[in-house]
Amino acid sequence: MEKQSKLFLFMGLPGSGKGTISHMCTTKLGWIQLSTGNLCREHIQKQTELGKHIDFIIKSGKLVEDEIILEMIKQWLMHVLKSEAVVILDGFPRTVRQAQLLDEILQDLDTKTQMQIIYFDIDSEKIIDRVLYRAVCTNKKCQHVYSLKPGSDLAPRVSGICDYCGSPLTQRSDDTIESIRHRFDIYYQNEQDIKNYYKDHGCKISIVDADRSVQEIFEDVEKIAGICNNVC
Ligand code: AMP
Repeated sequence: MEKQSKLFLFMGLPGSGKGTISHMCTTKLGWIQLSTGNLCREHIQKQTELGKHIDFIIKSGKLVEDEIILEMIKQWLMHVLKSEAVVILDGFPRTVRQAQLLDEILQDLDTKTQMQIIYFDIDSEKIIDRVLYRAVCTNKKCQHVYSLKPGSDLAPRVSGICDYCGSPLTQRSDDTIESIRHRFDIYYQNEQDIKNYYKDHGCKISIVDADRSVQEIFEDVEKIAGICNNVC
């Protein structure tokens, strides 16, 4: 039988919980996650030529150029989609051009890919607090997301240390109030065009209410995954 991979596109405002749920999907379901934001931060941390170029772009909350993002993910994506993997793209595509480039990759593959878009729906004002308190594991193989808000369910067991791998936690340089508001604006500028693009291409967008507990959101994603039958 022909091999078929599954691709989930996690869409939603920065801070809507895509990273947290992606991490649960990787640990509990064995899915594979690629976060373009994490990839960008890795380049910055390693001070590669690309990292130096995108450092300021990210700090200011702007989007990195489409072609650069594509170059970052293309080989990896083609490789994983040739297997029967279940792959999450977290934070990609963020523009219609990126959606077109992704389609070109899928067309070049000689395997079929089932694609489903999951939209994390939450009001931007409810996210601001989350993002300002957000901390992330510094281990690039882990990158689990925490909340440093006192009393939060998502707080680490030991302050400043990742529950999963024991690495130190850090706060992102772009999680400032100015940058967040700018990232929201940019997100809204592109959101409708991307939704229209996928609607025109017959791809279903499943909406998840992201203003609930992590467990409830995760269960919704599992249910959606169970009924995924949309071949693009
Ligand atoms: P995230 O971790 O997804 O919130 O992304 C952090 C930052 O990385 C964004 O604000 C952008 O500057 C950059 N970035 C991540 N993914 C993309 C993408 N698909 N296209 C352009 N820029 C991106």
